[in-house]
Amino acid sequence: MKKTIVIGGGPAGMIASGFAAKNNNVILFEKNKKLGRKLFITGKGRCNVTNACDPEELIQNTPGNPYFLYSAFYTFDSYATMNFFEELGVRVKVERGNRVFPVSEKSSDIVKALTRFMEDNNVDIRLNSNVEDLIVEDNKITKAIVNNQEIDVENVIIATGGLSYPVTGSDGDGYKFAKKMGHKVTKLYPSLVPLKLEEKWCQDLQGLSLKNVELNIFIDNKNVYKNFGEMMFTHFGITGPLVLKGSRSIVGKYNNHKITGYIDLKPALTDKELDSRILRDFEKFINKSFKNSLDELLPQKIIPTIISLSNIDENKKVNSVTKDERRRLCNIIKKLPITIIGDNGYNEAVITAGGICVDEIDPSTMKSKIIDNLYFAGEVIDVDSYTGGFNLQIAFATGYLAGNNINS
Ligand SMILES: Cc1cc2nc3c(=O)[nH]c(=O)nc-3n(C[C@H](O)[C@H](O)[C@H](O)COP(=O)(O)OP(=O)(O)OC[C@H]3O[C@@H](n4cnc5c(N)ncnc54)[C@H](O)[C@@H]3O)c2cc1C
Repeated sequence: MKKTIVIGGGPAGMIASGFAAKNNNVILFEKNKKLGRKLFITGKGRCNVTNACDPEELIQNTPGNPYFLYSAFYTFDSYATMNFFEELGVRVKVERGNRVFPVSEKSSDIVKALTRFMEDNNVDIRLNSNVEDLIVEDNKITKAIVNNQEIDVENVIIATGGLSYPVTGSDGDGYKFAKKMGHKVTKLYPSLVPLKLEEKWCQDLQGLSLKNVELNIFIDNKNVYKNFGEMMFTHFGITGPLVLKGSRSIVGKYNNHKITGYIDLKPALTDKELDSRILRDFEKFINKSFKNSLDELLPQKIIPTIISLSNIDENKKVNSVTKDERRRLCNIIKKLPITIIGDNGYNEAVITAGGICVDEIDPSTMKSKIIDNLYFAGEVIDVDSYTGGFNLQIAFATGYLAGNNINS
C-alpha cells in the first residue's frame, strides 16, 4: 500500500481519494476547515450533480477539450454518478434539461455522502491543511510541504480546482505546483460568467428576468453564439443561463475584438408576424398614446427602453404611428442591440476555462506524462463544460479515473 496524498477536498479530490484508498494509504489535504465548500454552493445550494445523458451528449456540452474526456466519460458516465450517490443513500431526481439533483435538494447531502465514502475506505482526512509545495527528485514527487511540515509521499493527485469563487479555497495552487514541475498551464479565463454591457439603459432594466428569448453574440461581426432560453438584466449588464453559456464563446476576447450581440424578445414570431401583432394591438388601443399600447406585448419594465430606442414619440396616438416607425419598433424588439465590454471576473464565474495542458496528461488514467507519480483530477485540468451538471460530471469522472489508476 503506497502513501498517496490528494490535494483538495472538492468533488474531484473526494471521489479520487475514496477510490484510491481501495489500494493505497490515502491522506486528503484540504486547506479549509470544511470539505467541499464550493460543492456546497452549487446549483444554488441544491447541487446539480450531473446531467442524465449519454457520454456523446456530455462531450457535446463540453467546449473545453471534449475529446480528452472521452475515456473518462465512457468509463464513469452520468449514470455511474447517479448510481454512485444512490448506493451511498442519496436518492436523485431528474429535472428539466436532464439536470440531476438530490431528491432532498440539499447539496450538503452530496458533501456528506462523499465524506462517508472516504471514511468507509479509511481515507485520512486532514482539514485546515494547506499544501504549500511539492518536492521533486528524479522525476518523482518525494515530499509535500503541508502547513510548514515535510511529509514523505509516493503518489500525488492534484485536485485543487480552478480560480473561480476564490473564497471557497480554489485559488490556483494546482497551476503553481504543475508549472513548477514542468507542466504547461494554458491561458486561464473566468467562464460561465455574467457579462458587462456598454449600454447604460441596462441599469433601468435591473432585475428584469426574461424567459424564452434568443441571444446572438458576434465577434467582429461573426456569429459565435445563438441560443434560446432565460436571462436577466443587472445593473452592469446581463446574466442567467442563456448568458452564462454564451460567455464561454467570448472569454478573454474583449480587449482585441469588437463583441456585439442582440436579444430577440419575440423569437417565436417572424418580423411579419410581429408587425401584424403590433397592428392588432394598435387597433385595440386605438385611442391610446403609443407608450400605452405595448402592455400586452412586452414586460412593463422594458417598454420605456424599447420606446426610447425606437425613436418614436411616446405621446403620439397609435393611429398616427407610421409604417416606417412600426418597422423600427419591430426591429428593436427582434434585435435589441448590445455591446459586450467585459465580464464580472473570477469572483462571479462558475468555472475557470484553461488549466493544465491536456497533451501532458494520459486521458485514460489522468496520470502526468512528465512526473512519474503525479495525477490530476477536476477543474484544474484544461477542460470545461456548460452549465447543467456537466462540470461536476467532469470532476467525478476524472476523479474516478485518477483514484482507480493510481500506482499501488
Ligand atoms: C456558484 C457555483 C455554482 C456551481 N454549480 C454547479 C452545478 O450545480 N453543477 C455543476 O456541475 N457545476 C457547478 N459548478 C462548478 C463546480 O462546482 C466545479 O466545477 C467543481 O466544484 C470543481 O471541482 P474540483 O474538485 O475540481 O474543484 P473545487 O470544487 O474547486 O475544489 C478544490 C478544493 O481544493 C482545495 N485546495 C486548493 N488548493 C489547496 C492546497 N494548496 N492545499 C489544500 N487544499 C487546497 C480548495 O480549498 C477546494 O476545496 C458551480 C460553481 C460555482 C462557483
